[in-house]
Formats: sequence, structure tokens, C-alpha cells
Amino acid sequence: MLNKVLIANRGEIALRILRACRELGIKTVAVHSSADRDLKHVRLADESVCIGPPKSTDSYLNIPALIAAAEVTDAVGIHPGYGFLSENANFAEIVEQNGFVFIGPRPDNIRMMGDKVTAKDTMKKAGVPCVPGSDGALGDDGETNLRLGREIGYPVIIKAAGGGGGRGMRVVHTEAHLLNAIEMTRAEAKAAFNNDQVYMEKFLEHPRHIEIQVLADEHGNAIHLGERDCSMQRRHQKVIEEAPAPGITQAQRDEIGALCVKACQDMRYRGAGTFEFLYEDGRFYFIEMNTRVQVEHPVTEMVTGLDIVKEQLRIAAGLPLSVTQEDVRLRGHAVECRINAEDPRSFVPSPGKITAWHAPGGPGVRVDSHIYSGYSVPPYYDSMIAKLICHGDDRATALARMAGALQELVVEGIKTNAPLHAELMADAAFQAGGTDIHYLQKKLGLS
Ligand code: ADP
Repeated sequence: MLNKVLIANRGEIALRILRACRELGIKTVAVHSSADRDLKHVRLADESVCIGPPKSTDSYLNIPALIAAAEVTDAVGIHPGYGFLSENANFAEIVEQNGFVFIGPRPDNIRMMGDKVTAKDTMKKAGVPCVPGSDGALGDDGETNLRLGREIGYPVIIKAAGGGGGRGMRVVHTEAHLLNAIEMTRAEAKAAFNNDQVYMEKFLEHPRHIEIQVLADEHGNAIHLGERDCSMQRRHQKVIEEAPAPGITQAQRDEIGALCVKACQDMRYRGAGTFEFLYEDGRFYFIEMNTRVQVEHPVTEMVTGLDIVKEQLRIAAGLPLSVTQEDVRLRGHAVECRINAEDPRSFVPSPGKITAWHAPGGPGVRVDSHIYSGYSVPPYYDSMIAKLICHGDDRATALARMAGALQELVVEGIKTNAPLHAELMADAAFQAGGTDIHYLQKKLGLS
């Protein structure tokens, strides 16, 4: 096992990684900005290093400072968590060049999946179903692009190869707007991602977001842990996630899961990863792969009984996966609510001092959070302060437990979106299961 791990992140995921390290007897190094001295994991870590001022670019994204912190503390591995540098292939490369273990995929795999044109191409070759669209990046010939638009059928979506976080996309409803949309997306992509490659896809009108969790080791073993449904979104940001996805049969799960496993083996993937799909009319369409642990990984842990972060640490140490595909059995249902420090209606961030915090408890309730009474939520970072995860023998029980947990939760001093979650737990369409990715926006009157 790795002897000492530096946690290159903050908040709940840093604490989550610290807990996994402790269980495995791994020493921990917390790095933090000057605004984050009071983070829970900083207090719990064996060592801590301040890596810079509050601004992320000067601290959590500051590669030289992170490498220096790993050097002075004699860390062996670096865990990037999610966000920040987790999908930065250059960072993974620098980590390895400096003699540390990057707890994540090989840099070339991160790079491949970070370019959506290459990612889609790789998936097509592996037999993973993709959204119908252009074969690779679009060229400059207007006639060819117009013909392509007609073949695919409107509406279509123009997407930037280098896009991310819901940026660099444009929906086109009629042929008259196509060429202009391509030019505009290209110019934006050039400015935002320094990559002017764009591609065209059929725009699916009522899809759900369903994703497959995979794990792969250095020995050629790869498995999938079933799917998560993350369709409850606002501005492409996930709000609620659950596993398994309502209405997906074991046969569908086995089929799409096996294709993801094959894709992992084809590219010699290492670590944890997620294949994201849009799902419409009973069919899966690949959109992108995330080469890191995800915010919503706990729902998969609750239904499989596996610890995804511990598996990541084992894989990075060169050990084989602790289970085979046959060992993976789904039990019951799990749902996760992302609790954000924000106004539940206007979504304006609400940083500040938490004067009182009471976490819910009871059977099947898990709280992943770095919050405590007296903690001040800084204004500089993501507003997520906690994840409530509830498990039950069936979906109705999991949702009922979540409704109860939300009632028990007390956060005073700042505003949170807990009231919105409570409303969603009581929402008839959500309770029925299978709402599409536009449902929440429409309910909120936003689109
Ligand atoms: P990002 O990396 O920016 O998150 P994705 O490719 O994952 O980009 O797409 C983000 C979101 O955009 C999807 O979750 C979906 O809501 C929407 N989207 C992307 N492609 C399509 C498509 N072909 N049809 C319909 N919606 C799409």
C-alpha cells in the first residue's frame, strides 16, 4: 500500500479521501489555501501545508506549490479528488515525472477523454453507442456541413471538442441557422478552450442522464458497478442522483456495462471512471467520460457495498481490484441530495458562518460533509457543503428516508437548498421515477 498520500483538494471530498486513507493505514497530508485553515480534514490529517492564497489559481490549481508540498512531506501518492486538477493530463504527467504516484488514470487516457472528438471516436471503435452525429470534427465547407445537418435531422447541437462544464454548446433548430452557429461556437471554443474544433450531434429532446461507474486495475481487470441516474439538474449541474436508475433492467445494465468494460480494456484504462450517457426511448448514447471519482459516487457505494475511493488507492498501489464482476450485486436503492450554501429559490450563493449544524442519522443515512457548528463557508469555492445519502431496500424507502433526513437536518446562519430537496422528495413525477434532464428547470420556471 502507499505509505503517505497528499490530498490535492478541499471540502467534503478531501475528508472522504482522508477517511479511506485512514482505513487503509495510509498517512495523510492536507494542503489548503489560507482561507481553508479550519477545514475539518486539515485538522484530522497527519500533516498539513498551506499552499497559497484563497484564489484557486494560486492554491488548489497551483501545480508547483502542490509538488513542493509533496516533496517536503515525503508523500508517495497524490489524490486529486474531483474538480480542480483532477482531469488535467499535464498535472498527472508532472506528478509522475516528479516521482509521485498519481491516484487516477494514466495521463494519455485523461488527455484522450478530455478531447470529446477523440473520446467519441474511441467509444465508437469499442462498440459503445454514441449520439448520431458528424464523424469527428467539422470541416470548413458549408455545403458539406449543411448536408450533414440534413442527414442527422434537426434539431442538432454544435459542441466544442474541448468543452466542459456545460460550456461550448449551441442548439440549432433550423438549417438557416446552422452555418452561423458553427462559426460562433468555433470562435467561442477558440477563446475559451484554445481549441476551435467543433462537432455536430443530433439534439435529443427528452433524454435522461444515466452514467456507468467503472473500475480498472493495472492487471487488465475491469468491472462496472452499474448505473446512476443524474437527470435532476439545474444548468447542467446535478442536484439529485440515485442508483440504480428507475426502470433500467438487469439485462440493459449488463449490456451497457459490458460495453464500458470493453472500452476500458481497449484503452488500458486504470482507476475509477464514469461513462456518461443520455438515455432516450430505451437507448443509451455516450456523451463523455469522466476520468476521476465523482461527487455522486456514494450512491453506487451504498447499493454495491464497495468503497470506490479505497479501490482507487489500491489500484494506484498496483494491487488488483478487490472484487470480480460476479461479486458485484446491487442491493436496494440509494439517493443523494447535494446540499449547497445558496438561496433555495434564487440560487445566489450564501457563504458565511454556520451557527448551528445538526446532521441527520438513523438506518440507511449517510452524511458526507466537512461542516461543523462554527465553521465559516468561504466565498471562494463551490457552494456544496454536504451530501445526504439515503439507502433503503427499495426506492420508496430510500426516498422516505431522505424526506425524514431533510427534516432532521439543521443548518443555521446561512441559507441552503434543503427546502428545494424536500419539495422534490414530495414531487409526484420524481416519486414516479424517470423524469428527464429538463424536468427541474421547467418546474422552477427557468425554461
Ligand atoms: P460537459 O462536459 O460540458 O458537461 P456534455 O457533453 O456532458 O458536456 O453535455 C452536457 C449536457 O448538455 C448534457 O448533460 C445534456 O444536458 C446536454 N447535451 C449534450 N449533448 C446533447 C445532445 N446531443 N442532445 C441533448 N442534450 C445534450
